[in-house]
Amino acid sequence: MRFPERALLDYILNLLFPVTCIVCHAPVRERSWGGACPDCWASLVPLEQPFCPKCGEPAPAIEGLCGFCRRGEHAFDFARSALLFTHTLREMIHHLKYADRVSLANQLGDILNECRRREPFTGSLVIPVPLHRSRERERGFNQAELIATRLGLPMASRLVRRKKDTPSQTGLTRNERKRNLSGAFEVRQKMSGTVIVVDDVYTTGSTMNEIARALKRAGADRVEVLTVARVPSYRAEETTSAVEAIIQ
Ligand SMILES: [Zn+2]
Ligand SMILES: [Zn+2]
Repeated sequence: MRFPERALLDYILNLLFPVTCIVCHAPVRERSWGGACPDCWASLVPLEQPFCPKCGEPAPAIEGLCGFCRRGEHAFDFARSALLFTHTLREMIHHLKYADRVSLANQLGDILNECRRREPFTGSLVIPVPLHRSRERERGFNQAELIATRLGLPMASRLVRRKKDTPSQTGLTRNERKRNLSGAFEVRQKMSGTVIVVDDVYTTGSTMNEIARALKRAGADRVEVLTVARVPSYRAEETTSAVEAIIQ
């Protein structure tokens, strides 16, 4: 719909069904903003340099690669995130997942796509991180897939299957998470080339490493990772924090 009609429709809808910002509760007049107000969208923090050139780990004054990459701990080849995981972004992702505010996925997906175009990604096939079947049935959608749709690239949403329903990672250390996720993903067919794995939040990287391992076993040459939000590793270890509540 074009401008005058769209504006008139929003005006009428706002009278009938006023929308308030899911983060700060201010009125939201432009419904395409997806349930958050322009101030809250503008307050999101882009993940900018300095970060690890390989895995995107945010760190001040980094020289060369981060510790994880130097120790060869990542099974993927390249990773970037669009935004830092802040309180406002946490609220948005939480509402997207649990409160059916699926319209938020459009804006978040557009932010993700800007990041993809800015950074040196080479993959052209997108793989959203799958939910376990029972979780997807319960929620009705996979938020990673909704967000990834906005990249406008070919997407293989059924190529990777989540075999294990890994309930909660809360309170687990990095090593326990790794064990918990081990063998959690299965790639359904042989493949080759470069893929981009997409998710909403990157926390410790355990999920991405498990998927990358499975993809490489199936023949992928290069696995790139793209997420909306990034939790810096020094915060990912705060296992009791609010970060955990929304990772599942
Ligand atoms: Zn707001
Ligand atoms: Zn790194």
